[in-house]
Parts: sequence; structure tokens; C-alpha cells
Amino acid sequence: MHSRTDTVHSSAEALRYPWENHPGPDQVVEVMPGVLWVRLKLPFRLNHVNIYLLADGEGWTMVDSGFGNEESIAAWTALFEGPLAHVKITRLIVTHSHPDHVGLAGWIVERFNCPLHMSQVEYLQSVYHQNRGTEERRNAQRLFFRRHGMDENLTDKLLGRGQDYLKRVSILPPSYRRISHGDEISIGTRRFKVITGGGHALDQVMLYCAADKLFLSADQVLSKISPNVSVWAVEPDQNSLGEYLASLASLTTTLPYDVIVLPGHGVPFYGLKTRIKQLADHHEDRCRLIAEACREVPKTSKERLAAGHAALPRSGDSGGALLASRIGMVSRL
Ligand SMILES: [Zn+2]
Repeated sequence: MHSRTDTVHSSAEALRYPWENHPGPDQVVEVMPGVLWVRLKLPFRLNHVNIYLLADGEGWTMVDSGFGNEESIAAWTALFEGPLAHVKITRLIVTHSHPDHVGLAGWIVERFNCPLHMSQVEYLQSVYHQNRGTEERRNAQRLFFRRHGMDENLTDKLLGRGQDYLKRVSILPPSYRRISHGDEISIGTRRFKVITGGGHALDQVMLYCAADKLFLSADQVLSKISPNVSVWAVEPDQNSLGEYLASLASLTTTLPYDVIVLPGHGVPFYGLKTRIKQLADHHEDRCRLIAEACREVPKTSKERLAAGHAALPRSGDSGGALLASRIGMVSRL
């Protein structure tokens, strides 16, 4: 039920997108003094990823590195020879272990001889991804898919996806510096609070600068789509959606109105709390549909998929993911 106050707040928090256009492949957009926005192409349906550069004294801190393929390396090379010729990267922060974010960490660290900062869980998760693909893990994934009602055919198809993770990331730097939830870090003249959250990744890093009401939301709050919230074979009973919703609830109670949100995909926007409510409502809605569908007879994930209550991972998502969102929640209903 909406109270009067809610109505007032939500209209104060109308979604606004200050930039109609995203930067082109050889362009850089200044979001505010000392904050630059770059967009790199991705070879998936989700066809781009945002990278942000934050002025950091004599150098710049880069937030996320892009996908680990030749095209991204060519795009960075052109940018560093063109509009970013004056930029020296002195620190790299990677928000989470997915290949569109951590993919070129090794390449950036080597090129600029700068340190890599990540949350411990996300760094170790990246190490795990780089070393996976053993026969045992494939068998575990096979059993996981079968348990959720996938037939042999579909299982084979899913197992074929995302197995080239190693080709999508440059070799991970052998060491990193840990950033944790609640840390306060200085980047240039700005102070940022480190916030981490689960659901999309295990311990994704977000950065919040109170003085400038600037929030780098990584993939946790995206402008137009919901991030992929999946259950993985490695932790088949994980409540990913519960973690995701808890993180959204925490963001909405701890962050103020009027922050500018810089997401990992899509475009910068105002209206964080409205967007969080939309995302939470969307998931609650789907869960309700699934609960209703399962009320009479239990259904497997495969059957819920057929009913349109869940989605298969998109090509480009890792093969270990089962069904985007909802499944973790449903197994608890
Ligand atoms: Zn992403």
C-alpha cells in the first residue's frame, strides 16, 4: 500500500537520465569534474559495459576493466592514444569477477604497473573461474541441471556455454589489495565508502561518495535491465535472490535521494530509490507467479522456464549458471 509520503518521495525521485547518448567507441564523457565515463563493446546481447575513471591526484583510478578480448584491447589502445592520452592509471578497482568487468585486469595492471583492488571474495572467485573447467566440475554441473528437470539435450547445450572463460580474461594479476564493505577510501580529493552486496555476484563492490552524492552501483542497480541473479552449480542451495533483495533494501535505506547513479551497464541516472523499487517489485511479482503456478503440483525449473517464469542464462553468461533469478527463491517457497 502506498502512503502519501511514498507518493511524494517517488515523484521526487523520478527517473532521469542526464545523458541521452552514451559515449561512442572513441569518446569519453565527463560526468562531473574528475569523473569520466567510457563504454566498451561486448560480444553478447548485452552489448556494452561501462568503465569509469576517477581523478586520483597525479593519476586516475579505473573502475572495471572490460571484457578480455582483442576488440577491447584495441578499443583501450585507441582511447589511450586519443582522448585518454593524458591519463595514467594508478589504481584499478574491479567490482566483481564477471569477465566483462575483470576481463582485462591483468592487461591494465601490466600496462600501467598499477595495483588491483577487489573484494577478497571476488578476487578468489576470479581465481576459481580461471581454474575451473575440470571434468569433475562439469559432472557436478551436469547433475545440477538434470536435478532441475533439464533433459540431456538442453544440459549439453548449457554445458557448452561459458566454458571459454579463460579466453575472455587476461591472466589475473597474482596479487591484489583487498577492499571490504564499510571501508572508507580516498580517491583524489574524494572520499568513497565501499559497499558490497550479493545476488548478482557474491560480494560485488559499489562506491559511494557522500559529498558529491555520487554512487558507482556496478551491476547491482542498472538503469534499464535487471542484473542476472543466478543459482550456480557450485552452491546449489544458494539464496541468490534473497541476497540480492536484501542488498537492494540496504541500499535504499542507507543512501540518500538525489544521488547520481553510475551503473556497470546502461546510462547514468537519478532516481535510485525508484529504480530499486522497480527491481524489487519485478522480482516479487515473478516469485508470486511461480508460487501460484506451483501451488497445486510441484514443478521443476525446466517447467517454470517453459511457463515463462524464469530465464535461461543468455549466451555470454557463464555455463555454470542455471536460471536467471527466481529459482533460488522458488526452491524455498
Ligand atoms: Zn556486467
